[in-house]
Amino acid sequence: MIDMPALTGRRKISMSEKIYKTGMTPGSGTYDCTNCHTKVHLGSGDTMPPCPKCTNNEFTKE
Ligand SMILES: [Zn+2]
Repeated sequence: MIDMPALTGRRKISMSEKIYKTGMTPGSGTYDCTNCHTKVHLGSGDTMPPCPKCTNNEFTKE
């Protein structure tokens, strides 16, 4: 009846290239502007602002 690939445990997704954008609430942590590498610190539930230095909207997580 059930013919699915085994679902034993979740695969880990590489986070190294994940992009977080302005307006997202990615959780607490330090985020790095992809343009000028200014660091933005967010708490849990905080919304990602534009980069305070260059107004870029994309960040990676440190
Ligand atoms: Zn920036």
